[in-house]
Amino acid sequence: MKRDYYDVLGVDRDADEPAIKKAFRKLARQFHPDVNTDDPEAEAKFKEAAEAYEVLSDADSRAAYDHYGFAGLKGRSVPDFSGFGFSDLFDAFFGGGDMFGSVLRDAARGGAWAAGGGPGAAPRGEDLHVTIELELRDAVFGVTREVEVKADVACESCRGTGAAAGTGRESCPQCRGSGRVREVSSLGGFGQFVRTSTCPVCRGQGTIVQQPCETCRGTGKQRRKKTIKVEVPAGIDDGQRLRLTGEGGAGGPGARPGDLYVLVRVNADDRVVREGNDLIYRLDVTMVDAALGAKLKVPALDGDIDVTLAPGTQPGEVKVYRNRGVPVLNGYGRGDLKVLVNVTVPRHLTDEQRELLERLDQLLSAKNYEADESFFDKVRSVFHQ
Ligand SMILES: [Zn+2]
Ligand SMILES: [Zn+2]
Repeated sequence: MKRDYYDVLGVDRDADEPAIKKAFRKLARQFHPDVNTDDPEAEAKFKEAAEAYEVLSDADSRAAYDHYGFAGLKGRSVPDFSGFGFSDLFDAFFGGGDMFGSVLRDAARGGAWAAGGGPGAAPRGEDLHVTIELELRDAVFGVTREVEVKADVACESCRGTGAAAGTGRESCPQCRGSGRVREVSSLGGFGQFVRTSTCPVCRGQGTIVQQPCETCRGTGKQRRKKTIKVEVPAGIDDGQRLRLTGEGGAGGPGARPGDLYVLVRVNADDRVVREGNDLIYRLDVTMVDAALGAKLKVPALDGDIDVTLAPGTQPGEVKVYRNRGVPVLNGYGRGDLKVLVNVTVPRHLTDEQRELLERLDQLLSAKNYEADESFFDKVRSVFHQ
């Protein structure tokens, strides 16, 4: 069972941003695995706090969580800082300097701190990066895509244990299963400095094999092509990135898998452009339809829309259809569809056509051409912000 994010951070549901930041900062200092080497639960507690902070520190995701709980966050791409070292984390989120200050304070109190390595320090599997190309329609409404990547997967012969058939793994005698070894050096009158590093015997895995699997030579991994299903959420935009936790390369025994990062590219469409969550559709209308009025169909991305043009429709005229635009990514509601009228003028006229137009021109007066609204104002109303 996942714990409520507000409970994790120990803040009220109406806590403001500084309070949330402060709560996370406190927990990070207490549980970041670079700092806390004594509590075996430290890493899990830190991650739980980091995830809660990721969600509650962002206004959109917090609103989604408040309304719909964990279900409201499905498919959301969140910034990942689980791999950050303690000082990197503080530099990135709270400004530099804090780390150094607290180390000196702790040392002066005769405390100890640790640096380097990670819990069960076996390096996690590699992160994978792929790019997918979508048509506008798929980006707007969401789509499931399969991507093929070459990645480390659990070895088939040993099921990822690295041990030969019929044998198993045993606790590493060097580090007694922790994957890490500690070196303690004195800082004179300022306490002691504990450096933790990856156990050289088990390479951080915490366990060793007596008889390695022949297929993977004990690594527990094999390089293979694998296919991963990517659920692209509705409303994704060009240049955005999704993170699929744990879908990267296998980590081998005692190590977490990496993550898969998916960069989304959206192909440009001839007739529709996206502006925020609005879609702007260019409707080409003949000169005659514009002058006489017409009923036309606009093939919007999710079905036709009937558009009625009044006689005397001008270029740059805009018709707005509420809630027919792009769904808000990981949110609620949709933008608008705006139909922008473009009047097309005939080319390559025959002699007869030219004569008829010249005749028409003689019959038209200035009154027929009276302008109503500025063309630029109308176009600006489409490309608002
Ligand atoms: Zn070891
Ligand atoms: Zn194997």
